[in-house]
Amino acid sequence: MKKNIPFLDLKSINAQHRAELIQVFERVLDSGHYILGDELKRFENSFAKYCETKHCAGVSNGLDALHLILRGFGIGAGDEVIVPSNTYIATWLAVTYAGAVPVPVEPLESTYNLDPALIEAAITPRTKAIIAVHLYGQPADMDAIMAIADQYHLKVIEDAAQAHGAIYKGRKVGGLGHAAGFSFYPGKNLGALGDAGAITSNDDLLIEKVRMLLNYGSKVKYFNEEQGFNCRLDELQAALLSVKLPNLEVETQQRCRIAQQYTEGLQGLPLYLPSVPEGVSPVWHLYVLRSAKRDELQSRLAEQGIATLIHYPIAPHQQGAYKAFNQLSLPVAEKIHQQVLSLPLSPVMSQSDVEQVIAAVKACAE
Ligand SMILES: *Cc1c(COP(=O)(O)O)cnc(C)c1O
Repeated sequence: MKKNIPFLDLKSINAQHRAELIQVFERVLDSGHYILGDELKRFENSFAKYCETKHCAGVSNGLDALHLILRGFGIGAGDEVIVPSNTYIATWLAVTYAGAVPVPVEPLESTYNLDPALIEAAITPRTKAIIAVHLYGQPADMDAIMAIADQYHLKVIEDAAQAHGAIYKGRKVGGLGHAAGFSFYPGKNLGALGDAGAITSNDDLLIEKVRMLLNYGSKVKYFNEEQGFNCRLDELQAALLSVKLPNLEVETQQRCRIAQQYTEGLQGLPLYLPSVPEGVSPVWHLYVLRSAKRDELQSRLAEQGIATLIHYPIAPHQQGAYKAFNQLSLPVAEKIHQQVLSLPLSPVMSQSDVEQVIAAVKACAE
């Protein structure tokens, strides 16, 4: 039986926890305490444990997480931060928010992540940090990136918004650099029922600083040491996330199984399939393939009832938001943005859904 396959079935994902989520809502409602309380502390402790880091600070969203980390490290006006040319625009915006300048470096065509061999040429006396994005859920080459950062005394910030639980050489993302930003946007691998995010780190001072910045620059109520922000994660979202976190590993395994089936089922077609370097366990936030005839493939799949998305259609340097960068030539990112297509991927997809997608791609990609 053919049916329409949605790109991501959030309703079914959250329906798995319906009773518990409602119970938690009632608990928070009846507690009378909605900001900076025990629910947040409980979630922060369990997410730090999950990421194998010393600390976790809940924040309002993934963009604010990255922005606060940069501020927490004292990065701002006059500073440069190396970012991938191929990423979601939030990575760049965090740098701009802090008052620093994003300096794009091209990715590897094979993994879509930062090419460590190109980083050194982008370093100037103003460079303060590198943001390594674990794009699509696959960890960047952190050993190589950390080696360069050590040599030039740079901070390494992981943008782990798409990579909750991904493993690089036996270690979880979130603790591979000096600090990491996570997003719990509803569509992320661990998703809240609204906006939410977190910062993880093993650095005591950084965490103390970001906790102050995220709460109006205040450690003690009504004493404001700095012009901070309101980037708090509320009790309700923290409590809802605590319900979903214990199921994340199972959902990740389901994502891995679907990705493996796609890769096995789509061999031999004129498509470029994801490649996973040795020692890396991606969490398949997205299953992204490349086609020279991407737009045609996407519309033919749509005719077959298969929803696909493009992550992302326009590179950050070509956006209206970054006019000063529009003239830059970043051919690898530009090519990637013209060719990528993401297949449906929900941890709740059935075996027959996966088979239907594979059959449709085979029929449409010839
Ligand atoms: C989602 C995302 C962000 C931003 O997270 P929000 O919670 O939406 O602010 C940052 N970087 C990447 C790579 C993302 O995918």
